[in-house]
Amino acid sequence: MSDFLPKIKKITNKVLDIIFPNDFKCLLCGKDLPDDSSIFCSECLQSDIFNEGNRCIKCDTMIKEGNIICDHCKSQKRYFEKCVCPLNYNNIVKAAILKFKDDNARYLVTPFAKLIIERIKEENFQFDIIVPVPSHPKTIRRRGYNPPLLLAKEIGKLLNKPVVEALVKNVLTSKQKRLNFEERQTNLRDSMTLVDKSAIKGKNILIVDDIITTCATINTCASLLKGAKKIYACGIARTNLS
Ligand SMILES: [Zn+2]
Ligand SMILES: [Zn+2]
Repeated sequence: MSDFLPKIKKITNKVLDIIFPNDFKCLLCGKDLPDDSSIFCSECLQSDIFNEGNRCIKCDTMIKEGNIICDHCKSQKRYFEKCVCPLNYNNIVKAAILKFKDDNARYLVTPFAKLIIERIKEENFQFDIIVPVPSHPKTIRRRGYNPPLLLAKEIGKLLNKPVVEALVKNVLTSKQKRLNFEERQTNLRDSMTLVDKSAIKGKNILIVDDIITTCATINTCASLLKGAKKIYACGIARTNLS
């Protein structure tokens, strides 16, 4: 009798699946999933999608076993305490994030926010407000939305924390690639302005971005949030710098 019921349940589910096909899809590749026990398909799960293993204590990038901090964080001043990203920015993750950023796949915001929240909770980040990385109005018009703001709002909703758009981006920085490191930093810094000083004063802040590559963006944002107490940062995915 004990394994009779599960068997019946399995059969019933199978029949239901045929009558009402479910729409559980893999979050990353969109493939059909048998049930909702995982948001990823087995192939994606086997493709290094998680940002795990030995990672920099500051910026969460993968580093060699035995090291605790990456060369970038060792040589550059960091204006934030720590940054976390749940996913590894490989080709599979990249395709999904680009869909979220450039293809209006806003439905991805909730699962991405939940993955970030898991990491935030693991690290026990204590923050009062959420500040999204700003986008230039032209970029927002092209996309129809600002992905980091969308993410920030979702995290805020799920954790009951206010979102403050304390920073704005007034200058497009699309030509960043042609500049050297120093010029890039200055260019980036000059492209953003703090518009809400009073809202951040004495506050612990969580900066939200989508993809974290060199940390230049979140670091610049953190440096501009003068008067804040502690600053943490997060993104959906981390590129592997090493
Ligand atoms: Zn998949
Ligand atoms: Zn680092």
